[in-house]
Amino acid sequence: MLNIEDIWLKTCNILQREVTAVSYDLWIRSLAPIDYSNGIMYLSTSSESAKARVLKLHYGQIKEALSEVEPQITDFKVLDPLERDNYFKRLEEQSQEKSPYTNPICSFNQKYTFDNFVVGNSNKYVYAAARGVAEHPFDKINPLFIYGGVGLGKTHLLHAIGNYLKVNNPELKVLYVTCEKFTHDYIESLKSSKAQANAEYRDKYRNNIDVLMIDDIQFISNKAGTQEEFFHTFNDLYQKGKQIIIASDRNPKEIANLEERLRSRFSMGIIQDIQVPDYETRLAILQKKAQQEHYSVEEDVISLIAEKCDTNIRELEGMLGKVCFYASLLGKPTANLDDFNEALKDVINTSKQNLTADRIIDCVCKYFSINKEDLIGKKKNKEIVEPRQICMYLICEMLDLPLVSIGELFGGRDHTTVIHAREKVSDLIKENNRIKVEVNDIKSMANRM
Ligand code: ADP
Ligand code: MG
Repeated sequence: MLNIEDIWLKTCNILQREVTAVSYDLWIRSLAPIDYSNGIMYLSTSSESAKARVLKLHYGQIKEALSEVEPQITDFKVLDPLERDNYFKRLEEQSQEKSPYTNPICSFNQKYTFDNFVVGNSNKYVYAAARGVAEHPFDKINPLFIYGGVGLGKTHLLHAIGNYLKVNNPELKVLYVTCEKFTHDYIESLKSSKAQANAEYRDKYRNNIDVLMIDDIQFISNKAGTQEEFFHTFNDLYQKGKQIIIASDRNPKEIANLEERLRSRFSMGIIQDIQVPDYETRLAILQKKAQQEHYSVEEDVISLIAEKCDTNIRELEGMLGKVCFYASLLGKPTANLDDFNEALKDVINTSKQNLTADRIIDCVCKYFSINKEDLIGKKKNKEIVEPRQICMYLICEMLDLPLVSIGELFGGRDHTTVIHAREKVSDLIKENNRIKVEVNDIKSMANRM
């Protein structure tokens, strides 16, 4: 089951940034999540008129924010109090016969298709592999393991495979779950003493299924019981010739505390990475997005966004949406540079102006869960030295500070130490994907804060 409270909380955080404070207090605050089913989130509100207002004013934004938080959600419905009561009554009637695991077919986000996926140098191999699996499941690419940093299109590709199979092989039972959902279902089945609950769980993941897609598998790290269960699920499906597709934010080699036997299972098929898109691909993604969403926006705005946001496609799209939303607030037919400056002044101008070495240091400490004294201090263990070098590298890259001053920030180190760190990390980025992902994540964190 999705955790609807949690999803709604995250959605509200997004909406708070997108709508005016008044609108938020009047219309959004009174919504409450009551259920999720088949891609649709159900929200209740206090009256019929509140329902009408919120739908009229904020339908698009709420829908967008919900699916940003949880791609499985493709739409939502608002129920007034009477509708809510009827809804619960119906649910109760249905739940008397129905069990939670009987239907493994899930819905996919309609926007996440192969057609909507822009292919460039950073993702052409992963696209080909995903497409290959969709066109010829159960063939050579099994499992397909996709990995890459946050917001680079992994979930999009999994849904694209799902959407494709739904059209071209509708008889196949395709299940998409996040690792958290898999863990949750497993724990629920353990908690239940009923043999039936266990059988239903097995049916869902082993018997009643042709294709299993599991997203964000990195969260399985440290969960010994879930790893064991997944290992058996994997073997069972694999032996029956079922298709398995896995996405992760890092290479199997880099998932901490992962059992060796799982790591080797993940490597049995194809492991394919997805890279940060280059400028031209970012431009193409923005153009496609503008076309899809019917945004009217000047070309120089698009190129500016592509230039400024170089780490994460989700943020890229978020920026475009924000600029167009500002233009629409003013009733302008086309978004231009003024809207860009206004909408993104917090993100771009201030972040560049206010970006300081201290903020980068803070981000590095948070990201690696280490404290500042250690980061700038004398410790020589790898857990500290690597973050320290990454931090020096990022300060060199992101700020215009003299090397000597950077050395001073790190307990009066010599400027040659800074040069060494910069060169070391820039070499590592080329050969080690984990470092590359980490550096990118911290960069976007520092730009955002
Ligand atoms: P991840 O799962 O890797 O964190 P997502 O698949 O959620 O990333 O992608 C984030 C956003 O970027 C989604 O809205 C997705 O549609 C979009 N996106 C990612 N890659 C592409 C691409 N190549 N073309 C078009 N949109 C993309
Ligand atoms: Mg994802």
